[in-house]
Amino acid sequence: MNFQFHWHDGCSIDWVPGKVVCVGRNYAAHAEELNNPVPETPLLFMKPATALVPLADPIRIPHEQGEVHFETELAVLIGQTLRDATAQEVRNAIAGVGLALDLTLRELQSQLKAEGHPWERAKAFDGACPLSGFVPLQGTDDLQNLTFSLAIDGELRQEGQTRDMIVPVVDLLIHISQTFTLQTGDVVLTGTPAGVGVLRSGQTLTLDLADRIHLTTTVL
Ligand code: ZN
Repeated sequence: MNFQFHWHDGCSIDWVPGKVVCVGRNYAAHAEELNNPVPETPLLFMKPATALVPLADPIRIPHEQGEVHFETELAVLIGQTLRDATAQEVRNAIAGVGLALDLTLRELQSQLKAEGHPWERAKAFDGACPLSGFVPLQGTDDLQNLTFSLAIDGELRQEGQTRDMIVPVVDLLIHISQTFTLQTGDVVLTGTPAGVGVLRSGQTLTLDLADRIHLTTTVL
């Protein structure tokens, strides 16, 4: 699988993906739209590297297991090992930012939640994490002042402001590193803003991250 990191000068390098650590309910408005309480500590789950697929490729969704929801999220690429990390170590270890779709079999997830079972079947299946390329942060960038969006067939569906995160990125990575060592090539998904909904075959998706990433993809 080919995942790219784009330098300012136009050069790109490939990198090898590791695990994906995700946080649920990191935007209050999204927790509210699904009638979920906002957790007191970050709600973590993981997707394996086998869930990753390039976001620029047409998205294959499962068709036999109920609705597949899109969740558009700021993704952070880890460039150094983080274990029980300090804020400074986290800042040094963030190699770049990108966008991901946290694809979710919503009906299956609801059923698993009701039964008190883990969510992996609904969130960690092959192809459950379409991922863009990454770009490095620039000197004046503020991780908590980025805007990202998803439009479907030309209609704006999700618009995130990272300042609305309940747990900001650096604090989130500190917290994750106290349970899961983050390694070079791992990716952290930082939660979805409100507006999640159903993906359907034939849709065209346009994703933007500030003025850095702009890509269009389709749903098969
Ligand atoms: Zn999510």
